[in-house]
Amino acid sequence: MGTHQYDFDYFVIGAGSGGVRSARIAAGNGAKVGIAEAKHLGGTCVNVGCVPKKLMSYASHFSDDFHASKGFGWSFDKEPEFSWANFIDQKNKEIQRLNDIYGRLLENSGVTLYNGFARFLDPHTLDIDGERITADKILIATGGRPFIPDHEGAAEHAITSDDIFFLKDHPGKVLINGGGYIGVEFASILNGLGCDVHLIHRGELFLRGFDLDLRTRLHEIMSARGVQVNFNCNLSKIEAGANNQKIVHFTDGRTETYDTILYATGRLPNTDKLGLDKAGLKTNKKGGLLVNEKFQTNQDNIYALGDVINRIELTPVAIQEGHFLADYLFKEKGFEMHYENIPTAVFTTPPIGTVGLTEHDALESYDTLDIYESSFRPMQNILAGSDEKTYMKLIVAPETDLVLGCHMLGPDSPEIIQMAGIALKMCATKADFDATMAVHPSAAEEFVTMRSVSRQAKRQEAA
Ligand code: NDP
Repeated sequence: MGTHQYDFDYFVIGAGSGGVRSARIAAGNGAKVGIAEAKHLGGTCVNVGCVPKKLMSYASHFSDDFHASKGFGWSFDKEPEFSWANFIDQKNKEIQRLNDIYGRLLENSGVTLYNGFARFLDPHTLDIDGERITADKILIATGGRPFIPDHEGAAEHAITSDDIFFLKDHPGKVLINGGGYIGVEFASILNGLGCDVHLIHRGELFLRGFDLDLRTRLHEIMSARGVQVNFNCNLSKIEAGANNQKIVHFTDGRTETYDTILYATGRLPNTDKLGLDKAGLKTNKKGGLLVNEKFQTNQDNIYALGDVINRIELTPVAIQEGHFLADYLFKEKGFEMHYENIPTAVFTTPPIGTVGLTEHDALESYDTLDIYESSFRPMQNILAGSDEKTYMKLIVAPETDLVLGCHMLGPDSPEIIQMAGIALKMCATKADFDATMAVHPSAAEEFVTMRSVSRQAKRQEAA
């Protein structure tokens, strides 16, 4: 039964990672729960984010594997071919399967699903495509959408990560604008799928916020693999060219023609059409909802979490926030949310896995750091004939022996760093790493066999 006069105890707007988790846990805690979704179940992650991206990343790795296999004794008469259309078909089937699973999960938890767009009429009332719903507590978990800066012709001629997953044809010669997660991931993926990839980034080096050693090494590897990377580069205008191509004008006066232009210039919270004014809700300049540490907005009964609060835009973070809130509201017991030591991966080729502080950030709190580094050709690269090296780095506080950061660029680093994340969460010391027996032969074993300090980093050196 809903709380007194309301239809629902808890109504969630947006069935993405955070919203679905929160709705299911709240229902499990005994609340009467509804959820509205205007598009597909699973939100960005399942439909136009992590999941199809990872599938595309798998697809792109086969070009390396086919090549490498020859070094391991395989031969084939004809070079394998990639069909973009076949891949998109297969990918769409898998996403549909996941959409259905999300639907069943909600149904089995007793959550009522509304397929429609929810707007506030007042702090307790929503309009969902003409239907009025009332709820005691409301959660906004509407996520975000790609942001395209105000460049002439960009909105018309460029695509975003929302579109790339549904392109009918191979993207050909591609310009990627943006050096964040999405920009570098797609540079690798499209390179592996046979595109002529050009990436521009407005700053000195891509992946701002990641450890400098990973960024410089990834740049070298990506360039060696044939991605044309241009830093300190901006475009001013895009216009239509012949044969559906696009002509790009750069601010340095150059022009160049591409088949596809992909913008990966960050994301904006999805709040503009929610009727926030009707509920008196406050946002930051980007439209992100302002919340306290319990995800409560300036309206006592309205909560927000995940990408829509514009803080940490990562699926596992939204899931944990949604779970926390549902337990806090309907079990009167939340766990504490901690945002430090969040492991993360960038699915480039090779991928990055990282947890803890970067060397630069660690030097804000420590005068001196012990840096342990290892750079080596992974075993599979030798017969494959590849010179690409894996890089691994531990950042250790000399006085306490605490491992502050663990960074890796190389095959399997996302899988390895997930486990290293547990160690950092438990405040592991370098001695704990040393006391851990190695798994041999593996790349991961390097993290527990780095015996001598490679160098010391001093605060004044961090410029
Ligand atoms: P990011 O914030 O990671 O990167 C945006 C990039 O665009 C930066 O290089 C930024 O430059 C640049 N940029 C921003 N505004 C402009 C502009 N006006 N003109 C030119 N360049 C601009 O965003 P993404 O879109 O790549 O990804 C969104 C978020 O999604 C990520 O931050 C991440 O949280 C999440 N994500 C996570 C993934 C994972 O876990 N593997 C994968 C994909 C996305 P600058 O650095 O100078 O600001």
